[in-house]
Amino acid sequence: MTPNDREQKVTALIDKLCLTQQLKRSEWITVIRERTPAAAEHLFELARAVRIHHYGHGIYIRGLIEFTNYCKNDCYYCGIRKSNPNAQRYRLSEEDILSCCEQGYDLGFRTFVLQGGEDGWFTDERLCDIVSGIRAQFPGCAITLSVGERSYDSYKKLYDAGADRYLLRHETYDERHYGRLHPPALSASHRKQCLWDLKKIGYQVGTGFMVGSPYQTVENLADDMLFLAHLDPQMVGIGPFVPHHDTPFADMPGGTVELTVYMLGLIRLLLPRVLLPATTALGTIAEDGREKGILAGANVVMPNLSPLQVREKYLLYDNKICTGDEAAESLNSLKKRMENIGYHIEVSRGDSLNI
Ligand code: SAH
Repeated sequence: MTPNDREQKVTALIDKLCLTQQLKRSEWITVIRERTPAAAEHLFELARAVRIHHYGHGIYIRGLIEFTNYCKNDCYYCGIRKSNPNAQRYRLSEEDILSCCEQGYDLGFRTFVLQGGEDGWFTDERLCDIVSGIRAQFPGCAITLSVGERSYDSYKKLYDAGADRYLLRHETYDERHYGRLHPPALSASHRKQCLWDLKKIGYQVGTGFMVGSPYQTVENLADDMLFLAHLDPQMVGIGPFVPHHDTPFADMPGGTVELTVYMLGLIRLLLPRVLLPATTALGTIAEDGREKGILAGANVVMPNLSPLQVREKYLLYDNKICTGDEAAESLNSLKKRMENIGYHIEVSRGDSLNI
């Protein structure tokens, strides 16, 4: 096949995905492996049209509160893994968390995302107290949790306490690849089971993966896409892998903007109504990374509401952006950035249309 034939083949697959919202495994592999800049442009045009059809030019914002960086896990890529002795550990109190929410509410946030390492100090009882505290004070807001793998029972208690949404990236579908990114105590199958549990309980569920994580193949990405089609989540978070200097993957190459935005475009066509953030990791590896993400079909951004004193401590990867900005400052700069590309930030809970 000539390069031109290949490009036509990829473009035809992109059109097929747009029309049918599905591809076979071999087609996913081709559409990813054989991509060209022109095919990517075509993809982004379609992805933007689909996104605008469902969500207009609005961008939903989520206030991210990184409330603990203690973690019992030892994921090889993550800067807050338990074996990193240089991570300065912290936990926010319920009072601190509520004050982040108050500040966020005043800025226009109607979704709070509580993210943290897997920190045993936050028992069901403590976490439920925090969730119900936020629920009582902000009845019109969505509460999203992102605190890793817990039992069905624990997820259910948190749901009953008022949490609406849960983010748990599957990281990679393939068991063997999963095993190269995580210690033996963690498994892809358990992580997936958690996602099915969350769904069954009634959460709006978000999953996702890193792009360009060490040892990732095109086949792995194809399997990730098939898994997304199967799970049919309300949200999908993907971002480039960014090395952290204090981890076993310190010297591994990071993911690229190019492949990350291409995957964003494909996800928008696969799940037209999904909530798709242009992530902080994408904004970290390129100055205009988040803009590129929006222009590839993303419709969510997640500015940081964590108190300034702890920002520098929640470092999953190196060079993370906005660690020195007040929440208001980052929001303002984001507003301008989004307006510059013809989009605007919306003040609303920003629920998925896919529920
Ligand atoms: N403990 C929670 C939150 C994890 S942090 C959980 O288990 O879900 C949120 C996400 O950050 C992870 O799911 C992972 O995909 C991403 N992440 C961690 N380290 C990263 C790195 N070095 N580069 C890019 N993304 C990373």
